[in-house]
Amino acid sequence: MSNLRLGDVIDDFCVKCRRLTNHSIVSLIDGEAAKVRCRTCYSDHDYRREQAPPSKKDLKKAELFNQVLTAAAPAAAGDRPADSPAETPAEEAVETKKTRRKKP
Ligand SMILES: [Zn+2]
Repeated sequence: MSNLRLGDVIDDFCVKCRRLTNHSIVSLIDGEAAKVRCRTCYSDHDYRREQAPPSKKDLKKAELFNQVLTAAAPAAAGDRPADSPAETPAEEAVETKKTRRKKP
């Protein structure tokens, strides 16, 4: 068991400083740090066990990825750049079918 006490200084990842900094413990749960305060920028946050949270960049990336996924589905047939060969055979096939239907 650890003997952490309020006010003890421990390492943790500070989101504002974006690096490991010294933190003092401001809240303990079951002998473990629950909340800590960065000694550099004095912001309080939950103790992260020195783990960096997913950065905003990563979150943004995931968000964009999801947007692309949802946007790609309906837009797939329409505005593709001309240099994207993936759609060309499908479109030709569709036109062939249409042509065949028109000519009995
Ligand atoms: Zn900080």
